[in-house]
Order: sequence, then C-alpha cells, then structure tokens
Amino acid sequence: MLVLENVNVYYGAIHALKGISMEVNEGEIVTLIGSNGAGKSTSLKTISGLLRPKEGTIKFNGADLTQIQPQAIVSQGISQVPEGRHVFTNMTVLENLELGAYLRKDKAEIKKDIEKVYTLFPRLKERKGQLSGTLSGGEQQMLAMGRALMSQPKLLLLDEPSMGLAPILVKQIFSIIQEINKTGTTVLLVEQNAHMALSIADRAYVLETGKIVLSGKANELASSKEVQKAYLGG
Ligand code: ATP
Repeated sequence: MLVLENVNVYYGAIHALKGISMEVNEGEIVTLIGSNGAGKSTSLKTISGLLRPKEGTIKFNGADLTQIQPQAIVSQGISQVPEGRHVFTNMTVLENLELGAYLRKDKAEIKKDIEKVYTLFPRLKERKGQLSGTLSGGEQQMLAMGRALMSQPKLLLLDEPSMGLAPILVKQIFSIIQEINKTGTTVLLVEQNAHMALSIADRAYVLETGKIVLSGKANELASSKEVQKAYLGG
C-alpha cells in the first residue's frame, strides 16, 4: 500500500533521513520506533507531504506522492495525527471534527462519520460543544484522532499518541487504535513508547539517527535482546 524507497530528507545541512526504505501493507498496524531525534516525525511529515525528500520515492497504491501537495495526499486517503495534537483550541469539538472533513462534500455521510467518531470516543460526544483548548491532553488526543478519521483515510499516520498521557489513558488510546484498524484502516504508528507500540503492531521498524537499523514482526522484535536493551528498559 505504502512503499518508501531510499528516502533522504534534509533540514538545510542536516541529513535527517538517510536512505529510508520501508513498506506498509493494507490492513496492518506498522510501528516506527526509536529514540529522540531518530527521525520518526520527519518520516511521517515526509509521507504526508509537509517535507520533501531530496532523493528517493514514496508510493501509495502505486501513485507517486513526492510531487503532489499535502491536500492531494489527504484526498488520496492518507491522514496524519500530528505530534502534540494541534487541535484548533478556540473551536468546539464538533467544529474540529467538521474541519477534518473539509475536503468532502457528502453532507449526510459526514454526519454519519461524526456519529461513528462519537461511538469510538464517547467522551467527545459528551463534550461536543466544549472549546477544544479546554479539553484534557487525553481528550485532545482523541479529538485529533477523530478529526483525522473524518477524511475517511485508508492509511492513518499517528505521531506519538501516547505523549504526555497517564498509563491508563495510553492503554485506552492504544485499544482504540486497534479498533480503528479492525474497521479497515491501515495504521502507521510512530512511538517512543516501544513497549506499547510493539504490543499492538504487526510489524515494526527501528530507526536510529535517520537510518532503519532493525525491522521485523513486532512480537519478534519485542523479544529480541537488542531491542529490549535499547528500547524496552532491559
Ligand atoms: P522526537 O521523538 O524527539 O520527536 P523524532 O524521532 O521524531 O524525535 P525528528 O523530529 O524527526 O525526530 O528529528 C530528526 C532530526 O532532525 C533531529 O536531529 C532533529 O534535531 C532534526 N530536525 C527536526 N526538525 C528540524 C527542523 N525544523 N530544522 C532542523 N532540524 C530539524
């Protein structure tokens, strides 16, 4: 479904991604793990078109993404939940969800999808009229995910959904990611919380200073000595 080949990305003179190759197959949850500054967010931003590779290709269902605008990438079925949520704080929960559907014209379907989001996240329904800036961190994460789902993505890109959340909320968010995946959305998950990410993913890639150093089935990586030592605290 998504194929990256030899992707190189620079910030000025900084070579942030050094020849990344990876793929995500339809129906999978794939996770990209690695420590601070490894290039995880850079990878997601490059897939969603916010950054451009200097070299390499990114294909989604056969179509080249590297020459088209971020908005067109959303239309092709890729939606990103950015690190730090970035909900529109002075708008209500409902208005944020409606904005997630800004490229769509099918009003009746949009209404149905808002209800689907409320079923996944009952908390959002309770708070639909509340200004998003006054939501808790966990609720903002739910809203950012719900907003991303409103574009009916085939592939959902999640950047550090666990960031800053209490363990119980992390569990809840991760189980919702599994639910979203079961209803047919493929997921690419970037996480520093390798333990949680590997527990729900089918496959994983380990990124270190801009390079993929390990990849494989998530359960196999979780039990590998190398990964345990570097990312799972022993
Ligand atoms: P984190 O989990 O801390 O967000 P990450 O794995 O997502 O880490 P990136 O944010 O992708 O890492 O950063 C990869 C490298 O690129 C880092 O060395 C970082 O300092 C650098 N970098 C990121 N954004 C910029 C920028 N806007 N300008 C210059 N360098 C940047």
